[in-house]
Amino acid sequence: VIAQKTARENGPKIDLQILVYPVTDGRMDSATWKDETRQLFLTSELMEHFWRHYADDEQLTDPEASPLLADDLKDLDGLAPAVVLTAEMDILRDEGAAYAKKLEEAGIPVTYKDFKRQIHGFVGLAEALPVGFEALDWVSTRIDAHLNSVDHFDAVIVGAGFSGMYQLHRLREMGLNVRVFEAGTDVGGTWYWNRYPGARVDIESVAYSYSFSKELEQDWVWSEKHATQPELLEYANHVADRFDLRKDIQFESKVASAHFDDDMNEWLVTLENGDAVRARYLIMASGVLSASKKPDIAGYDNFKGETYNTGQWPHDPVDFSGKKVAVIGTGSSGIQTIPLVAEQAEELVVFQRTANFSTPALNRTLSNSEIDAVKKNYPEYRTECRKSRLGAISPEPQLDRAMEATAEERESRFNTGWETGLLPSFFFAFGDILTDEKANEAAQEFIRDRIRGIVEDEQTREDLLPNTHPYGTKRPCLDTNYYETFNRENVSLVNLRRTPIDTITEKGIKTSDTEREFDAIIFATGFDAMTGPLLRVDIRGSKGQRLIDAWVDGPQSYLGIGVSGFPNMFTINGPSSPSVLSNMMVSIEQHVDWIADCIGWMNNNDKTRIEPDRSAELQWTEHTAQMADMTLYPQAESWYVGANVPGKPRTFLAYVGGVGVYREICDQIADGGYYGFEAS
Ligand code: FAD
Ligand code: NAP
Repeated sequence: VIAQKTARENGPKIDLQILVYPVTDGRMDSATWKDETRQLFLTSELMEHFWRHYADDEQLTDPEASPLLADDLKDLDGLAPAVVLTAEMDILRDEGAAYAKKLEEAGIPVTYKDFKRQIHGFVGLAEALPVGFEALDWVSTRIDAHLNSVDHFDAVIVGAGFSGMYQLHRLREMGLNVRVFEAGTDVGGTWYWNRYPGARVDIESVAYSYSFSKELEQDWVWSEKHATQPELLEYANHVADRFDLRKDIQFESKVASAHFDDDMNEWLVTLENGDAVRARYLIMASGVLSASKKPDIAGYDNFKGETYNTGQWPHDPVDFSGKKVAVIGTGSSGIQTIPLVAEQAEELVVFQRTANFSTPALNRTLSNSEIDAVKKNYPEYRTECRKSRLGAISPEPQLDRAMEATAEERESRFNTGWETGLLPSFFFAFGDILTDEKANEAAQEFIRDRIRGIVEDEQTREDLLPNTHPYGTKRPCLDTNYYETFNRENVSLVNLRRTPIDTITEKGIKTSDTEREFDAIIFATGFDAMTGPLLRVDIRGSKGQRLIDAWVDGPQSYLGIGVSGFPNMFTINGPSSPSVLSNMMVSIEQHVDWIADCIGWMNNNDKTRIEPDRSAELQWTEHTAQMADMTLYPQAESWYVGANVPGKPRTFLAYVGGVGVYREICDQIADGGYYGFEAS
């Protein structure tokens, strides 16, 4: 009953059901039930007494009491394979046999054995009836066979983006047997899914790249300052080919659940299609911005035209020529895609809820001499990036206080920031942009002034001015002609703060003032960031504890790498690590290397189980929150605090101390014998 119920209601994954002379049929009318010669130990009178104690007349034939009477077994996904044992001289023999047959007919793997000449209860009476031992042996052999029929790996990695790819490479080099599961059809992660027009990295390509292979670093040539999505995907494919990664990656394989087995110190990892494997280590390389969010807009499913989501863009190019198009959302994805869609569409209407800060990317092709200069200097360059605050070192960070500088000096530095086209420019202009409200206000005002200078229409200009949050507290954007796009004849802006969306209709979008009709709607509405990709998998740790319950008030993690109560699980770029506040390639490589070293240490020291100590986890979580509270970050309604997902607990999700400091802390913890972790 439990096995059926859990499959029906998507409950905990049962790996194997072992049914020992099971009671399956409350009708109490099978041939063996009525057979006088089988009333030796369990009589039908006694059994009926049990039934009556347990169920009234109506309940007797309810499948939740009589699993044999369920009529939906064929439709149940994930009903566990069964080992069924009956005793020949038992009144329950027929209903056990009938249930084994019924499971088999429903396509469930079943091993069935009827123990000849045995009575009900013989297994429990093994001391008196040695054939009971035989039955126990038979069952344990079936369990062994089942466990061995499941592939075993040293590590399972979830996700084949840049994190999963490098983690696979590292662990394989250590001689480990690894399987990667990836939901998509190929490698690349972010750059596989986000194929919308204009998608590109906003950290310099030469910095946003792997450093682990000197040969790769020297051979690969980035064509642009900020590489496009196709070029980044090509890079991911090149790495996969070069290091022969695909042979250990299983594509189109979405991990549905991962349950820790305390007896074996292993994870049972199950895919959406029901296939399962076991692994000592579970490494969640599932991304931080990979759980695309269905927008919380009334009538979302009503629209009969084309809909697109920037985070799940089609693989074939989309042509908007001659179409009326709406874009909802003006975060980085919207801001990148709007100018290009505007060039194609007959008409484009942008629906903006919050005006964001964006500065020009000033993208350009890289010259050979620039590339040569970087390549010559790569080791030093990488070292500096690793030691830095954001994992990027251009332009050179300044540490002095903005309000102690003259107004001219501030103007000059912000101006340089605007003209360098680099994401960290405004963060690096002074040391206190993210900690001092006045310093930040000065940066904000500089950017607003620039926007005023670009946008021609008065109302549109006012609406585009960001004034709801300090600069940088929502992820700032780099753009190509974003503000200029609003000067085009075919582009208009709807400020949802003045005229909010009532509903999406069959033909378009109805705001509080009017309804507009469209051929296509593009949702650039973001992600359930950081925790979403982890919590969308049914992860259960030691003693069946669910991650979703452990994190009900917000994520708690030691270093963003491990979670107490979830042994042998590592999270790459997990909550409370620098992650999204950095050039993520630097953070990815750091986590991958740390995890690989930790697993190496475990193996060298004959240890099979590691998890963070709860007090270390609490201290780190508190430290992360305290650090964030020293900045302006928590002031914004941003995805950094989970504010974009209704009901998500508000917690600042990343470590603001910088990648250099963080790396040092992680290294010291490892050098100290994994201080704060319990290994056994
Ligand atoms: P991802 O690339 O997100 O890969 C995770 C993979 O896991 C995905 O392929 C997904 O399909 C798979 N997966 C998830 N759950 C499951 C599951 N249950 N079963 C199987 N597979 C699963 N960072 C920067 O530093 N600079 C940038 O300029 C930048 N630009 C970005 C632009 C966009 C549009 C987005 C969305 C993010 C950007 N990022 C940027 C962040 C980016 O996510 C990281 O830089 C990096 O690509 C993350 O790599 P990853 O492998 O950790 O995760
Ligand atoms: P995002 O920053 O969360 O932006 C989502 C946008 O959709 C916001 O403007 C949001 O408005 C709006 N929105 C959400 N729900 C809405 C609703 N119900 N009604 C109206 N508007 C709604 O998501 P994103 O643009 O996909 O970017 C996510 C992150 O990915 C970025 O911050 C960045 O880290 C990364 N990224 C980077 C690049 C790059 O340049 N390299 C490009 C894309 C993405 P509110 O602000 O009011 O919530």
